[in-house]
Order: sequence, then C-alpha cells, then structure tokens
Amino acid sequence: MIENLKKNLLRMRCRHTINNLESYLKHAQDKELSYLNFLAYVAENECNSRNQTLINLQIRRSSFPMLKSFDDFDFKYQHSVTKRMITEWKTFSWIDNRENKIFMGPPGVGKTHISIALGYEAILSGYKVIFYNMNDLIDEMIIANNENTFKKWIAKLVKNDLIIIDEIGYLPIKEVNASLFFKLIAELYEFRSIIITSNRLFQEWGESFGDSVITTAIVDRLVHHAETILIDGNSYRMKGKL
Ligand code: ADP
Ligand code: MG
Repeated sequence: MIENLKKNLLRMRCRHTINNLESYLKHAQDKELSYLNFLAYVAENECNSRNQTLINLQIRRSSFPMLKSFDDFDFKYQHSVTKRMITEWKTFSWIDNRENKIFMGPPGVGKTHISIALGYEAILSGYKVIFYNMNDLIDEMIIANNENTFKKWIAKLVKNDLIIIDEIGYLPIKEVNASLFFKLIAELYEFRSIIITSNRLFQEWGESFGDSVITTAIVDRLVHHAETILIDGNSYRMKGKL
C-alpha cells in the first residue's frame, strides 16, 4: 500500500512527502492525529517545502555575490538607515509602484549589504530579483548589442521585479556604452524597480559616463520615482582599526 501511495505522490510531484512519509505516519500515530489533522499536517509540510525550494531557486538565479541580511546589519554603526525605514521598505509597496532606491555614500558604509539584504527580503516576499555589478552589466549589454540580441536581453531582464545595479560611478564608461545604459534605464523607467548604489554624488556621475547630456537623461529617469538615501560614516571594513 505504501509503495502504491508513493507512486501516486510522485505523480502529484509531492517529493517532500515521499521522502518523509514514514516519519509523518509515525508522527500521526504518536500524536494520535485525526484524519483531518494528519492530512493538514502533510499538506502544510509539502507546501512549506515547495516554497523553500522556490526561494532557494530564486536566490540562486538572482546572482547575489554573497548573501547578506538585516539580521547581521549593525544599525548602530551608521545612522542614515534605521530599522524603521527597513520595516517600511519591507512592505515593498515601492516595488509594486515601480519606484527606485538609490544608496549613495563612501566605500564600506554598507550600500551593497543593504541592497542585497533588501533583494533577499524581496525574494522571501515572492518578488523576482536580479543583482548586477555595474561593470558586469555593461559587459552583458555590449555582448547583447554586438550580437543584435539587446531587445531579447531586456525582455529577459524585465522578467524581474527588482534590478539591483551595484557600484555606479566607480569606473569610467565609454560614451557608446553610456548610451546603451541610457537605453536600459529608459526601458525600465516606470516599468520595473531599480536599486542603485554609488560612491559618487549625481553631479559627479558625468565623469564616469563621459557625456553630460546622457548623464542628465539617466539621472532624470532614475530619480523621478525614487528615494535617495545618503549613507555617511566610516567604512565598516575599518571598524576597530581607526
Ligand atoms: P559598500 O557597498 O558601501 O562599499 P559594503 O556593503 O560592501 O559597503 O560593506 C562592507 C563590508 O562591511 C561588508 O562585509 C558588509 O557586510 C559590512 N558592513 C557594512 N556596514 C555594516 C553594518 N552597519 N553592519 C554590519 N556589517 C556591515
Ligand atoms: Mg559596495
């Protein structure tokens, strides 16, 4: 009977239940569960496991360089981002409204940490997230453009609800690539949410993009529906060393 049950569970793709069937049956006997409670118990475990599998898959395909969470963020080390702000951001109404977040500040103050932690929370809430370092993003855009697949590349990108672009302004970008970046931002404008991190203020972005007209056009679209957060303070990497 158990083998037959497992076959049917497999047809219903209930792998978690198959793997734990014996322990579930023992649990039901030990706790003297009613038929209804037993069925509810099995269904809940199967659902939770599927949800976890989906979350793990989303985390893998989001390309975070490492996982960071707000649990290991020291809110006392800096005073620009508060727990109250995080609580508000975690409602993700800003993603539903296609708004952006822009984190600016010197190196080491936690811009990347906060972006990844926010992206991670967004995944837990069911959103699709992709993380890019600016240089990798530019490289991918150049390849897509050279192969005449730029439209296809964007179509794939906008399957995400949130696009994180880390480290804008660190390295100079060729003018032709700045134009490609503008094309991307114009496509995402009022359509998808973006998180940007930068160690440069907007007025300094021109040095990186090379062209003040393109820079203005990029900044204009990014900030229209955005919250810009300036994080100041000392680098966390220097903690205890200053
Ligand atoms: P940034 O992107 O601003 O240069 P990071 O987010 O990469 O800085 O932070 C540098 C390192 O310090 C990372 O390992 C990060 O996890 C850690 N870090 C930064 N700020 C904090 C903080 N307030 N609490 C805990 N860790 C932090
Ligand atoms: Mg960083």
